[in-house]
Amino acid sequence: MNNCKSRVLFEKAKSLIPGGVNSPVRAFRSVGLNPPFISKAKGSRIFDVDGNEYIDYVCSWGPMILGHAREEVVEAIVKAAADGTSFGAPTEREVELAELICQAVPSVEMVRMVSSGTEAVMSAIRLARGFTGRDKILKFEGCYHGHSDGLLVKAGSGALTTGIPDSAGVPADYARNTLTASYNDCNELENIFREYGNELAGVIIEPVAGNMGVVLPEMSFLKLLRSLTIKHGALLIFDEVISGFRMSYAGAQGYYGISPDITVFGKIIGGGMPVGAYGGRKDIMERISPSGPVYQAGTLSGNPVAMAAGIATLEILRDNPSIYAELDKKAEKLEKAFLEAGRKNGVPICVNRAGSLLSAFFTKEKVIDYKTAVTSDTAMFAKYFAAMLEKGIYIAPSQYEALFISAAHTDEDIEKTVRCVAQLPLGEWVHAR
Ligand SMILES: *Cc1c(COP(=O)(O)O)cnc(C)c1O
Repeated sequence: MNNCKSRVLFEKAKSLIPGGVNSPVRAFRSVGLNPPFISKAKGSRIFDVDGNEYIDYVCSWGPMILGHAREEVVEAIVKAAADGTSFGAPTEREVELAELICQAVPSVEMVRMVSSGTEAVMSAIRLARGFTGRDKILKFEGCYHGHSDGLLVKAGSGALTTGIPDSAGVPADYARNTLTASYNDCNELENIFREYGNELAGVIIEPVAGNMGVVLPEMSFLKLLRSLTIKHGALLIFDEVISGFRMSYAGAQGYYGISPDITVFGKIIGGGMPVGAYGGRKDIMERISPSGPVYQAGTLSGNPVAMAAGIATLEILRDNPSIYAELDKKAEKLEKAFLEAGRKNGVPICVNRAGSLLSAFFTKEKVIDYKTAVTSDTAMFAKYFAAMLEKGIYIAPSQYEALFISAAHTDEDIEKTVRCVAQLPLGEWVHAR
């Protein structure tokens, strides 16, 4: 595979941008390769500056559920941009997107737009603290909630991939208010609530974990979390930045039938533009400035171009509910391909799938939390990743990320991917270790 231009660009980038990238996992370090520089994308395909074409299962890490450069979305963006890209004043589009979100997700009665998932989570935590008058937050090991100070504690995603789940530069005093527990561990949860329940402002969780690889929640665990938070007056915050509008049009909370107090969105609601949002019960949301005392603001919040992309994306999802069943079917084919490849080669693989999100972990453990996720053979993952890339299949360069499927992935795309998985010499790699 020719990668001359990407190599030259990466060298130059490394002299100008830390690590050559603007977000760590993009650097491909954990798989020991140089990243292709992307020039364009359409539908399920992305293209690099050297002219290589790939079937894309990163989908910008989640937002591109309709595939790249979907016509309706591009048109909406162009039209909005032509009318001016930012005013710093209220617009009709903000109201439209807010209405779409509130109609889709019943627990969200009011919503505030921001510009990234990180910003949305950070603001939701401040709101939970302002509303309850308490300081402590509980999060779960391996869950990622953006890179704000108090949440870079036992974090997933790039923090986990690069081996620094606890970041330098976070004051100990700040992290002190962040408690952590194991995902899916009901006993530990009960113990923590027994000790700290009445000091907790809120509990934040990815209702389907997507940043230590995909880990599904036990129904009993989610139910316990809901009942304990109610009992102790702590707010339940669902970080649906990945799962929102992906697990179902009503998110993971619609899928599992559990209503949080606050929900955080990002990724899909921006249709590929920078957007985040947090919303919830009206009495809670009314605490935000200028209605209430919890301050939060943003020059580009509710940006008209970003709102246009989000509206176009959500309208397509709303008007074509069969998309979710189709995504599910495609993902199931990939799930089977990984299981079959593992069986055929005598290599243990744990496949976790939640709708159109899936992860294949190279481990014999059943992956239910952080501790089991990190039993994965990441050297094996790196070999698998390189082989897939060579065949023109672009997946996230980390064991601890999800594979994202979009409505633009055709049956042929899926079949080609299934064939590539079937051809992986997994058995040889195990013996070569
Ligand atoms: C991506 C992500 C975030 C952070 O969103 P950014 O837009 O990258 O700041 C927060 N929470 C979860 C669950 C995410 O997957």
